[in-house]
Amino acid sequence: MIVILKNDSNEKQLNNLITWLKSLDIDIHFSKGKNTTIMGLIGDTEVVDIDLINALDIVEDVKRIQEPYKNANRKFHPEDTIVDINGVKIGGGNFQIIAGPCSVESEEQICSIAESVKKSRAGLLRGGAFKPRTSPYSFQGMREKGIELLLEAKKVTGLPIVTEIMDLSHLHLFEEVDMIQVGARNMQNFELLKELGKTNKPILLKRGLSSTLQEFLMSAEYIMAGGNENVILCERGIRTFETATRNTLDLSAIPLLKTMTHLPIIVDPSHATGLSKLVKPMSLAATAAGADGLLIEVHNDPVHALCDGPQSLTPEAFDDLAKCVNNILPFAFNDK
Ligand code: PEP
Ligand code: MN
Repeated sequence: MIVILKNDSNEKQLNNLITWLKSLDIDIHFSKGKNTTIMGLIGDTEVVDIDLINALDIVEDVKRIQEPYKNANRKFHPEDTIVDINGVKIGGGNFQIIAGPCSVESEEQICSIAESVKKSRAGLLRGGAFKPRTSPYSFQGMREKGIELLLEAKKVTGLPIVTEIMDLSHLHLFEEVDMIQVGARNMQNFELLKELGKTNKPILLKRGLSSTLQEFLMSAEYIMAGGNENVILCERGIRTFETATRNTLDLSAIPLLKTMTHLPIIVDPSHATGLSKLVKPMSLAATAAGADGLLIEVHNDPVHALCDGPQSLTPEAFDDLAKCVNNILPFAFNDK
C-alpha cells in the first residue's frame, strides 16, 4: 500500500499515523521527491483500513498496490536509481557500455581486449570465469584463475570488472570483483539471490530465458529485500519459436520496465541474437528505446573464441558500434 502525503503535512498528525501503523507491525519506507512525499507501507497491509487513512487531513491519496515487488517498484521510489560501480555510474542518465569476451582465455587475450575496449570508451570490462555451458563437454571457463586474470586486466586498464557467479560456494572468490553477474540460468536461484542481497556489491541480474517481467522484478526483489539496492537489470533475449536468432530480443521490455521499476536496465544484444552482424543494429535500437547501457561481447579473434565466437565483435567492429551508439544517445527515448 502507498500513502501519498499532502505538501506541508502537519507533523503531529503524521507522527500519529506512523505510531499507529507501527503498532500494526507495518514497516514504513519514505520516499521524498521534489513535490511529493510517498510512504510505502510494507508488511501485512490487509490489516490497515484504507478508508481511515484516506480520511486523514494530511493524506492526498492512498493506493493498494497489486505488484508484489515493493523495493524494486517505481511507485515507492519515483527517482531513477543510479548504481555506482567503483566510480562508474549506470542509470539516471548515466549510460555505459560493458564490453569484453564471453570467457577469459589467457592473460594476453583479456588484457589486449581490455585495452582496446577501453580505447573505444567502454566503461566496464566483462569476462566469464565460471561459464554456464549447455554441454558439460564444452569449455567451462578458467574459473578461479579467470578471476585473477580479470583483476590483472583491471590493474592494467583501471576498468571495473564484471563476471558471473554460478554457485554460492564461490562467493569468497568475488571479493575484488566490482560487479557480480547473475546469469539467465540462475535468475531464479533464490538462495543465491538472498546471499547476494546480504552483500553491498552491485549485481547485474540477467533476465531468465523464459521469465516474465514480473518474475524478473521478483528476482531483483529477492536481492533488494536483503538490503542490497545496487541491482542492474539486463534484458538478454527470451526463448520464442523463432530459431533464426539465438533468442528474441524483447525491446519493449526496456520502456515497460522503466515504468515498473526505478532500477537501471541494460541490454545484451550479443546473447539476444547470437549473431555478430545483428549486434550493432540491436544496440542502436536498444539505445534508442531508452536502455541505460549495453553489454557487448568482444573478442580479438572471434573465429577461435572458446565460447560464443559467432556473436562476438572484433575490437574494430566494437569501436564502430560505440561511436554510432554515442551519436544517437542524445535522441534516446526517456519518458517514464
Ligand atoms: C554471458 O553473459 O556470458 C552469459 C552466459 O549470459 P546469459 O546468462 O544471458 O546466457
Ligand atoms: Mn557468452
